[in-house]
Amino acid sequence: MPDQLFLGIDLGGTDTKYGIVDGGGRVLRRNRWPTEPERGPEGVLKQVAVHAREMIGADKVLAVGMGVPGPMSSRLGMVFEAPNLPGWVNVPVQKMLEDDLGLPVRLNNDANAAAWGEFRAGAGRGASTMILYTLGTGVGGGIIIEGELLCGPDDTAGELGHIVVNPEGPRCGCGNRGCLEAYASATAIRRRVREALAAGVRTSIVIPAGEEDTFGAKPVFEAAERGDVLASEIIAEAGRMLGLAAAGMINALNPDVIAYGGAMSQAGAILFDRIIGTAKANSFAKPFSRVRIVPGELGNDAGLIGAAGLAMRLAGGE
Ligand SMILES: [Zn+2]
Repeated sequence: MPDQLFLGIDLGGTDTKYGIVDGGGRVLRRNRWPTEPERGPEGVLKQVAVHAREMIGADKVLAVGMGVPGPMSSRLGMVFEAPNLPGWVNVPVQKMLEDDLGLPVRLNNDANAAAWGEFRAGAGRGASTMILYTLGTGVGGGIIIEGELLCGPDDTAGELGHIVVNPEGPRCGCGNRGCLEAYASATAIRRRVREALAAGVRTSIVIPAGEEDTFGAKPVFEAAERGDVLASEIIAEAGRMLGLAAAGMINALNPDVIAYGGAMSQAGAILFDRIIGTAKANSFAKPFSRVRIVPGELGNDAGLIGAAGLAMRLAGGE
């Protein structure tokens, strides 16, 4: 029902994005405001409700969907914790927002919401089974199997960044060694560059002034495009690990599409050729011949489109 309207919210540690989304997954208007996490859960959610009302205006919105960054339960409407939001422990977000807004609210993990967005309106349109990897500060993901978002009985499904691809690999933020996230996140790439620079490796990677602690994959991709050896090695390693992980998914799930979101997914052939080559070499021919391995199409909108789409299902819109 394309003429029905929903509000999608993508709650982040720094900014929160809002979009009025129609039943076909089109964003009619969007905005973002700082999350101001120092306000604590109650203060943040009060501001979210203020911005939500501002976004809705005089429109008739049927339901609100929100993607949240951390362990949560969509069934309980509860956020258990959020590493980037201090003080968020067992927060009944759904009830607090429903009481404030007078509208049904549906919570989902932010990466799962992004996967649903790409499935409905982006790289997974027309697919039945799709996997999305989100390549950002960490590596997250979401799995759609035969048209259904896989949440699992504990709402923990889709932690695709914490599949071990090398048990002797570098330490991951989760405490294990050699998780995919320890190779293919912006954090991991930054660590590799820093280690190499400290060891005196020559490179043409240009780190923008003041971004020594925050730079992402972009300067590394740019250097790799110029033929920089260190940058090429780092990207090749990330691509190889992503390809190994993809091969496992291809064999296990026979997906139509494996898509990659986040800033790193814009790297183009230099990354995707490696992912696809490694996936091909390590998976069965039949499911490999089906799968499309592609960048996401929705960019920063994926999370709010997916959150709105999941709210639509709650409201009986499909
Ligand atoms: Zn891990």
